[in-house]
Amino acid sequence: MVATSAIVSSPELFAAWQAHTPPVVQQVRTGIWSVPVPVPDNPIRYTLCYLIMDGDGVVVVDPGWESDEGESALLDGMVLAGVYPGDVRGIVATHVHPDHHGLSRRFVAAAPDAWIAMSPAESGALEQLRQTPAERLASERAWWAAAGSDATDPSIDPTAAVNERAHVFERMPAATLLLADGDLLPLASRRMRVIATPGHTPGHICLLDVDDDVIITGDHLLPRISPNVGLQHTSSGSPLRDYLHSLDLLTAYDHEALPGHQWHFRSVPARARELIDHHRVRLDEVFAAMGDAALTAAALAPRLSWAHGWHELGPFQRRAAVAETISHLVYLVEDGALVAKGETPVVYSLPAV
Ligand SMILES: [Zn+2]
Repeated sequence: MVATSAIVSSPELFAAWQAHTPPVVQQVRTGIWSVPVPVPDNPIRYTLCYLIMDGDGVVVVDPGWESDEGESALLDGMVLAGVYPGDVRGIVATHVHPDHHGLSRRFVAAAPDAWIAMSPAESGALEQLRQTPAERLASERAWWAAAGSDATDPSIDPTAAVNERAHVFERMPAATLLLADGDLLPLASRRMRVIATPGHTPGHICLLDVDDDVIITGDHLLPRISPNVGLQHTSSGSPLRDYLHSLDLLTAYDHEALPGHQWHFRSVPARARELIDHHRVRLDEVFAAMGDAALTAAALAPRLSWAHGWHELGPFQRRAAVAETISHLVYLVEDGALVAKGETPVVYSLPAV
């Protein structure tokens, strides 16, 4: 949880969140609808899917998590907006996490000619994520070995990610339309421009309405939480550096944000700056926690502050926490504040003087 300067612009969604009541479908602009699609048994509660009307068709941004409950919520939202699954001309995935792109495949079945759009980097990440359970377990073990822990360490569970995610990526539809930074979505009635915002994932995108003051932000910018920015199998380079740069890009748009979760909000530039500051403080914390020790990411992570304490984190959250720790360490190494040695594990320390 990060302090927030985001100004609620959908009091109905915010009130429903506070009261734990079902969130509402809303028309946010002429031709743009916001449809909450439940993520069952998950504290994130729902993904906000956006319907963009285009002539007699519709483009669906981030259909949501695949479940019967989610499918019927999205169908109900489409009916309210006056469209049907057969009207779907295209699907855009801001990124390929299962709570955004999981449900897409059911809508492809209903509209087989619909295009599936995402960035080239996200398309590449999706192909890498299509692993058999055995392949995934092997890459999880390799990831943990680099992070500084192994399968004999009782504090980690390399099967956690396998159990939760092994099958979902295999089922997700592949991209048939690649969207580069600056591209316009293929719409007849609206200009929606792609802004590449890597960080949370290697190829995350936001969609800027060129003629109206809204921006669809996916998980890049959320009103109350900071998305995980971790080094994953599919990441290379410096996800945190990418993320901070991508946040900086959004400080130029004083638009209404239509995020992937929670509620719509205003004050995009202030919120983006707040998250930049949050990570700068976190970088200082990581550097201070290192002291003059030589540590792996898995050894350092429990020494950092976590919202509910390290010991309260389950296996999957613990993995996310270590991934986030690595992205901060990598950033400090690139800045020359730390050095990294070895590969399995990678050990971080102060540079030799
Ligand atoms: Zn999400």
